Amino acid sequence: MPADPPKTFYLETFGCQMNVHDSEKVVGTLVQEGYRQVETVEQADLILYNTCSIRDKAEQKVFHRLADFKKLQAQGKKFGVLGCVAQQEGEKIFERAPHVSLVCGSASYRNLPSMLVQLEAGKSPAAGATPVRITGLDDRQTDECFETEFTARTNPHRGYITIIEGCDKFCAYCVVPFTRGPERSRASDAILREVRQLAELGYSEVQLLGQTVNSYADPTARRMRFSELLLAVAEVRGIRRVRFTTSHPSDFTPDIVEAIEREPKICDHVHLPVQSGSTRVLRAMQRTYSREEYLEKIAMMREANRPIGITTDVIVGFPGETEPEFEETLGLLEEVQYDSLFSFKYSPRPNTPSLSMSDSISEEEKSRRLAILQDTQREIQAAKNARLVGEQFEVLVSGKSRRENQWNGYTTSHRMINFASQERELLGTYVQVRVTGAGPNSLVGEHAV
Ligand code: SAM
Ligand code: SF4
Repeated sequence: MPADPPKTFYLETFGCQMNVHDSEKVVGTLVQEGYRQVETVEQADLILYNTCSIRDKAEQKVFHRLADFKKLQAQGKKFGVLGCVAQQEGEKIFERAPHVSLVCGSASYRNLPSMLVQLEAGKSPAAGATPVRITGLDDRQTDECFETEFTARTNPHRGYITIIEGCDKFCAYCVVPFTRGPERSRASDAILREVRQLAELGYSEVQLLGQTVNSYADPTARRMRFSELLLAVAEVRGIRRVRFTTSHPSDFTPDIVEAIEREPKICDHVHLPVQSGSTRVLRAMQRTYSREEYLEKIAMMREANRPIGITTDVIVGFPGETEPEFEETLGLLEEVQYDSLFSFKYSPRPNTPSLSMSDSISEEEKSRRLAILQDTQREIQAAKNARLVGEQFEVLVSGKSRRENQWNGYTTSHRMINFASQERELLGTYVQVRVTGAGPNSLVGEHAV
């Protein structure tokens, strides 16, 4: 008798790099369980959304998607919601989208195989009938990390490795401690094993991930500090670039800068979210540093023996943020001269302390502040990038443009560069590129031979 054709699944991911990497692990787990990934909802038996809930927008998108495809339930297709929205909304998802069969929070992924078995054992619902409902939500207190033997890596040039999950910082606006649970670090030997595996697979660049990656606390007897881990990863044969994100300013210690100074393989780029330039707002946000303390961390990097690219995140319109406080943030941008930033309008999130704060700022005002902030930063970036014309950088080539002889990739300081080369194949290689032009968001160059 011929074997049954493999069950198929479609997975769409919303949100941050952590979510994208979680999806790589979810895909690996499903493939191991005999599923085959397909490109469209129509081809799939199981439709999964891995969702971020950091801001309201991503959450709304998922519910719109679920509504759009509701009619496919009649064809026996099953729907699942994974990730932070699943953890946050829990069984309420079944009320809002009754055709969903599986709700699994990010802390319960390691139970996915058994949840899939239960899902398959449940009958395909007839049109209008209530589908089988499986939940994995109650594991947030776990001290385990989601480690898989198989990770279906989607980026062929950069290997992502989660080294710390969850967060204990409880910033007043943030859902992460509620959706991803308490902070827990992976064992350093398991991390280094994964780096060696990546190197054997041909990866030369790895990025260590965590909501507060530099709060890493090795649970093994080795008690490796984060900076020691960076150095140990850089020593793995075949590794040429080590990245890490996101760093929390309070745990950003001098030894991290010393490691960057000492080891050129550790990339000269630090993403250090500031959120606001006003100490009063930072206190209200329950960030654990003042403007001055943050600027000391910046000074530490500026004094390093090689230039370090610095990027950040900013929230505008936090409850009670006054115009002068917003201007303090603009002043901070001018002072720090970031290489790039992600900026967000404050979005009230469930369970967070700032939800009940008074003095909310209107959407219109938040949009005004966001536009001013982005204009300010665009000018800073345009001027900074213009000064790079004539310089030469090493680039890991990660993309090929549709235009002939045009390639792109990143410098170690994470600047995107588009460049011309007559070479036939460059993807995945390191090349020297001379900068010939610059815009606010990227550089233009030519292959220097
Ligand atoms: N752990 C990182 C840190 O401490 O900066 C950030 C993680 S969060 C996934 C990424 C960014 O989303 C934050 O830096 C913040 O700027 C933004 N963010 C988080 N909650 C938000 C909210 N409620 N409204 C608007 N932006 C938010
Ligand atoms: Fe959220 Fe703050 Fe934790 Fe970052 S440090 S994940 S912003 S609670």
